[in-house]
This record gives sequence, structure tokens and C-alpha cells, in this order.
Amino acid sequence: MNLEELFNLHKEQSIEGRYLTLDHIQPLLDKLNSNNQVQIIGKSVLDKPIYSYQIGTGETRIYLWSQMHGNESTTTKALFDFINVLNSGSDFARQLLDKFTFYTIPILNPDGAALYTRENANKIDLNRDSQNLTQPESKILRGVFETFMPHYCFNLHDQRTIFGAGNTGKPATVSFLAPSYNEEREINENRLKAINLIAGINDTLQQYIPGQVGRFDDSFNINCIGDTFQFLGVPTILFEAGHFPNDYEREITRKFLFFSLISSFKLLCENDLVDNRINDYLNISQNKVVFYDFMYKNIKINYDGIEIITNFVAQYKEELIENEIHFNAYIAEVGELENYFGHYEYDAQGANYSDNHNTFPKVNEKADFYLNKNVKFVNGLIKS
Ligand SMILES: [Zn+2]
Repeated sequence: MNLEELFNLHKEQSIEGRYLTLDHIQPLLDKLNSNNQVQIIGKSVLDKPIYSYQIGTGETRIYLWSQMHGNESTTTKALFDFINVLNSGSDFARQLLDKFTFYTIPILNPDGAALYTRENANKIDLNRDSQNLTQPESKILRGVFETFMPHYCFNLHDQRTIFGAGNTGKPATVSFLAPSYNEEREINENRLKAINLIAGINDTLQQYIPGQVGRFDDSFNINCIGDTFQFLGVPTILFEAGHFPNDYEREITRKFLFFSLISSFKLLCENDLVDNRINDYLNISQNKVVFYDFMYKNIKINYDGIEIITNFVAQYKEELIENEIHFNAYIAEVGELENYFGHYEYDAQGANYSDNHNTFPKVNEKADFYLNKNVKFVNGLIKS
């Protein structure tokens, strides 16, 4: 199967970029709802509908939800690309629909999606609410789990640009976790199913993004939804869409998420899961916080009359302004910053730092500055 071709054929062209709300997916849901496959399964804090979409008649029940964190839209895009495959009428689609029943919630947190926040409208992180179930969105997610009784759960997220795949200097473009079900982080039959599946997906991804797959820390936290569902005996896989060089809109990462979904169901369909792939799973690089968006090296700064040569870093803040996400770069830290990398790196070779106020970079200021008074940087990037 040519995954690139499959993606190009079925990519949902009507959605793109980082800001993805109910308004954006409503036309897609209307189109998919030819025979009541789309349902309103509840309301958010701000009374917005939460939709499900179900397709397939197979015995193996698959539960997928995206945008539990409102500003994490990449997997929602990939989910719609995948749904297009399911509706394509191809032999592969028929094979999947005979084998599986898919229950999807494309935007679990529509209020957070509109506000472009991780949390819901009550400022609660839904992924820490899986025991207390204080929020309507958490109750809905749990309610479907109880009634649909999935065989597999897919917990779909985005991660920040700070994560690398180990200490290699490569970003973690896609990361995975088979969450723990107890404090001891033991591996039972269900967790092993998730582990084997991730190992299989990783085999595929390594062909396209070698060294850019990460494995998340498996500390047990029963308040996280993946840990809870795993604890309740259902193999659960956490997907984290991460950074690909220069792809802040996450349109390239979207493709690798699509590849991951296709690989998952191909593996499950063909029963192509080897018995025990714990070692392969553990060999996936661990997710490490090693990146900033910008790193400037060998900058001469003048602090109170003392000149030193040092490094500094800047990080984008994603700010929602008039329905658009703006990436605004702010200075994050000054120092040697050993063991860190920049997605963008610039060696100033001892040039003098200055900005409109200071002769040294100041944390939390915009990354607008000069080197030797003549090389200008605006919003983190060199201006030619
Ligand atoms: Zn998340």
C-alpha cells in the first residue's frame, strides 16, 4: 500500500492549519450524516453540541476521540482524512468496515477549540478529570466508553514543539504511549496489545521519519483518561502529534498521523501483531524536553557594563487574534543551555546584541533585536 498516495487521494481539503472549531467541521459532519451516522451525544459547558460519528459493521469496536484538549487539532484533521478513506468505497475500506465498528468524537472539547485553549470553558484539563468526572465533556467520553464497550481506545492529542526523540537533536514528530494501569507499571495482556500495536506503527513511521518517533513517560496517573481506560481493561493508545521542521501549521505531521491510523487498522485487520514486542517498544526513543523554537549562539551581550558571550533561546506563543492563530516569538531564557536544541538555530559568531531598550536579551520580551546594529531579527527570524 502506498501511504503517500492514499493520503493525497483522501486528505480532507476543507480543513487546514491549527485553528479548528465546530464551525470548521460542521459542513463535514453534515456531509457525513447521510443516514444518521452523526449524533449529538451531549453539550459542552457553553452549550455547544458534542458530535459523534459512527461507521462500520465489524465485530471489533474502536473508539477514537480527538481535541479533548481544545488547541490540539492535528489529529482531528487526520481523523477526517481517515474517515474519507472509510467512505471511499475501495476494497481496503470495505475490509476495514467489515472488520471494525468505528465510534469517533472529532472534537470532544468544542469550547476549548473555539477559545484555542487546552482546558474546557471551566478551565479544567479534561485529561485530569477521568476519576471525578466533574465536567460534562468528561461524562460524555466516559458514557460512550460504558455503552459502546470498545476493544481498543485511541486517545488523540498534540504535543508542544519542546519535545525531542531522546537527545538526538531530532524532534518527536509523532509520539506514543501505552499507558500504565497501575503504579508498578506492569504489563498485562491488554497493555501488551497497545504496546504491540505501537511497535507495529513505529515500524511504518521509521521508514518515513527515521528517528523522529518518541515514547512518552509511563508514570501512572489514574486521573488521566488513558490510564483509566487501560485500568478498566481496554487497550488504549495515546497518539501525540508533534513538530516536523518548519511545519508549524502541522500539515506534514497530519500526514504521519494519518499513516499511523492506517497502519493501526491494517495491523489489527491482518492480525499481524507479533506476540511480544516489549523490547521494540522500549527501543523507541523516549520523549525528552530538549527543544526551543529558536536558539541563538555566541551572542555578545552587555549587561551593566560587563560584556560576555552567551546563548539565548526564544519560544513561540500561539495567540488567537481575530480567528487566526499568530505565532509570536518571545525570549525564553539566556545562558549556555547545554543539551538543548533550536528548531531554528543561528550562530552570531560574537556579534553584539541590541534591541530597542537593552543591550541584553530580556526574558518575556518579544524576540525583535539587532546583531551588530545591522542584522535585524523580527519575531525570531532574520530579516533580509
Ligand atoms: Zn493533549
